[in-house]
Amino acid sequence: MSDESIRFDLPQSEIPRAWYNIQADLPRPLPPMLHPGTHQPLGPDDLLPLFPMALIMQEVSQERYVEIPPDVRDIYKLWRPTPLLRARRLERALDTPAHIYFKYEGVSPSGSHKLNTATPQAYYNKLEGVQGLTTETGAGQWGTALAQACDFFGLDCKVFMVKISYQQKPHRRTIMQTYGAEVHASPSNLTNAGRSILEQDPNSTGSLGIAISEAVEAAATSGGKYKYALGSVLNHVLMHQTVIGQEALKQLEIAGEYPDTVVGCVGGGSNFGGICLPFVHKNLTEGKKTRIIAVEPSACPSLTRGRYVYDFGDTVGLAPLAKMYTLGHTFVPAPLHAGGLRYHGMASIVCELYDQGLIEARAVPQLETFRAAVQFARAEGIVPAPEPSHAIATVIQEALAAKAAGEKKVILFNLCGHGHFDMAAYEAYMAGSLVDYEYPAEAVEVALQGLPQI
Ligand SMILES: *Cc1c(COP(=O)(O)O)cnc(C)c1O
Repeated sequence: MSDESIRFDLPQSEIPRAWYNIQADLPRPLPPMLHPGTHQPLGPDDLLPLFPMALIMQEVSQERYVEIPPDVRDIYKLWRPTPLLRARRLERALDTPAHIYFKYEGVSPSGSHKLNTATPQAYYNKLEGVQGLTTETGAGQWGTALAQACDFFGLDCKVFMVKISYQQKPHRRTIMQTYGAEVHASPSNLTNAGRSILEQDPNSTGSLGIAISEAVEAAATSGGKYKYALGSVLNHVLMHQTVIGQEALKQLEIAGEYPDTVVGCVGGGSNFGGICLPFVHKNLTEGKKTRIIAVEPSACPSLTRGRYVYDFGDTVGLAPLAKMYTLGHTFVPAPLHAGGLRYHGMASIVCELYDQGLIEARAVPQLETFRAAVQFARAEGIVPAPEPSHAIATVIQEALAAKAAGEKKVILFNLCGHGHFDMAAYEAYMAGSLVDYEYPAEAVEVALQGLPQI
C-alpha cells in the first residue's frame, strides 16, 4: 500500500498540563450527593474520613481547568501520551467509507486507563500525610492500578478483592502483590462488615458491594492513617481521565480530522468521560455537533433501562446517596455475563449529560460484543478487554450504517484496556458457553421499590 499513516503520536511535552472540569460548562449544575442517614447534602467534613481535602475540593470544583501537578505529569510520562491509531484494516474488513480512530489506553503499565486517576489519587493522599489507601476490586484492574500508584508514592495499599475472583483469578492477585499491595479475600474477618457477613454465611463468595463496605470501614476506622480510593463514578475521577480526550483532540488535528461520532463503553463512566468530555466541551462552547454514544451491556443497562433517582452507591446502603440512572443497589449481574461493566448506577456527570440530551446511550448484547472483539483483534492485532468491546460493537454498527448511507463519517472510540487478563471470558465465548441476556424491565421496578424516598 501507500505511505498512509495509521498512528498519530504526540511528544511527551504534549501531555496535558491541566484536567478539564465539565462542571464549569454544564447547563444545569450536578445534583448534590446526600448523606445516607440524614438525606442532607454532604459537606466536605462528611467526606474527610475517606478522602484527602484536595480531592474533595476537586469533586465540587467549578474551575474549568485544574492543573496537573508536575509530579503526576512525570509519572504520566511512563505511558502518556498514549497512541491514537486509525483502524484502517478494520475499515477495509467492513468495506466502509467511515474513518475509524481509536485511542489506546492499554499501553499503561496496568493495561487500562485506570492508572490515569490512581496516580493523582495516590499523590494527593501522600501530600496530606496519609499512610496508605484501602480499596475494593472485583476483576482486579482497579486494584492493580492503585497498587502501582501507591508504590510510586510509597503508600501502603490494602485491597479487598471479591472472594470468588480472589479464588478464580489468582494471577490478578499476584500482580497486586508484586507491586507491594496487601490483598484480602472479601468478605474477610478484618472488618465488622466482613465478620457479620461471614457469621450469616461462612461460605459467602463476596460481592463488590461487600468489598466496598469493608474498604470504607477499614479507612474510616483507621484514625486517619488510611483513606479510601474509588476507581470510577466520582467527578474527580472522570476529570482525571480527560487527559485521554484532550490528547485525542490534538492527535486528530494532526490527522486532519474532527469526529462526527465519539463512542465509549460505560461501567461507572470514567473511561467514557475521559474520551468524550473534551468533545462535549466543544459541542457546548464552539457549536460542534459531534454525536457522543455511551455503550453498556444489555445485561446491566443502567442508562437505557434504569431510572434517574437517588440511590445508594453500594449494596449495603452505607455509601452516600447519589442521583443516578440506576437498576437499584440490590442489582445482581447474571452469572453468565462475562463482559464486565457490572455497576448498578452511573457517574453523576454521565447521567446529567444523558438527562439533558447531550449524549446518547445504547445497550449491546454479549455475543455481538465478543464477535466484535474477535473481528477487531484479527484486523488490528490488539485483543481488546471485553468492556471496550461494547464500544467496538457500536463502532461497527455505525461504520456499517455509514456504508449503507454512503457517508464518510469520522468515528473515534476509546480502547480503554487490553484483554490479556480476560482469556477465561474469550475461552467461554469460543466454547459457545456464553448466551445473550436482557435484563428484565420488571426487575428494575422491583428493585426501585426498595429505595429511600427523597
Ligand atoms: C474499570 C474498567 C472499565 C469500566 O469502568 P469505567 O469507569 O466505566 O471506565 C472499562 N474498561 C476497562 C478496561 C476497565 O478497566
